[in-house]
Amino acid sequence: MRQQLNWRGAALGAVLLLNLVATAQGPATHDVRPGYGITHLAWLSDYFPPLRGTPGDTRIYILDSGVPGGTALVLGGTHGNEIAGVLASIVLVERATPVQGRLIVIPHANNAVHGYPDPRCASCGPWVTLQGPEGAARSFRYSPRLTNPSLQSPDPETYVHPSGLSFPGEEARNLNRVYPGLPGGTLTEQIAYAITRLVIKETVDYVFDLHEAGPSSRLAHTLVCHPRALALGAIAVIDLELEGVRMKLEPSREEFRGLSHRELGDLTSALVFLIETPNPGQEPGLESPDVVADPHYPIEQRVGIHLELTMRILAIGNQLRLQPVVVTGVPTYREIIKTGVSAWLNW
Ligand SMILES: [Zn+2]
Repeated sequence: MRQQLNWRGAALGAVLLLNLVATAQGPATHDVRPGYGITHLAWLSDYFPPLRGTPGDTRIYILDSGVPGGTALVLGGTHGNEIAGVLASIVLVERATPVQGRLIVIPHANNAVHGYPDPRCASCGPWVTLQGPEGAARSFRYSPRLTNPSLQSPDPETYVHPSGLSFPGEEARNLNRVYPGLPGGTLTEQIAYAITRLVIKETVDYVFDLHEAGPSSRLAHTLVCHPRALALGAIAVIDLELEGVRMKLEPSREEFRGLSHRELGDLTSALVFLIETPNPGQEPGLESPDVVADPHYPIEQRVGIHLELTMRILAIGNQLRLQPVVVTGVPTYREIIKTGVSAWLNW
């Protein structure tokens, strides 16, 4: 009898534990404080319901001016350790005001990257902190680049993209290798599929996918453009050089299958851009890099590049009479360098 009771207790405990795990497996939450520009809140699962309640679901912030125009989508956090893209997206959510057309922001595009140590930089996460006025502080997740392996395992020996292109197995958990995604695929493929659905359903005109790379990487300080977006990107890069910021311009090549700028640009009419800033946390072999206050690559410089390029490309598109998207309230590169990122967050 006593043993039966013990078993019953153990079974109950297991059920409770499973419930706890199930609760813990919902989407991670973040400190994002929407400003006056936000007109609607949505979930990624609104575009692909099987994601609802899973760690792959993520918040979508919509800034709709109510004035007919185009639609721009900003993706931060495709990779969890590329914090400048996440923070630039959060600045948009907290400070941007739409004047014409719509801006849609997903600060944590892959929200299934949290909860395990970053194999590239154990000391970088799991949180970074920004100081605000009067001793206030806010913490933001600094997570690894790929989907948490506990949510999608085991990795195949080789990840074969539907195009036939092969990658090392762990890249099956890389959101920016699995576009346009698969509805019946892995969690990462379902996230990509949901983002692709959003781009199609909302007839998105511009996509900005915000990334970072190690400072010595070929990619740091690069604007990658889908071929249809290349002329627009070239003008923006020249403009930015006048501000003293030199960016490389790279067309999205045919062999870049699975990447946002290639697949979303080929599949939809959106002009797709990917911006890369230098993050010391991604530099191989650095001891305890400071991913916020690095003397050469401080966070305000990196967030400034993401915001300035995004806003400049939209402004050039407006001048060229493309679908207009007009947004105010976003700091320029010079402003954010002068004041820091915190000055553009809500406290
Ligand atoms: Zn990246």
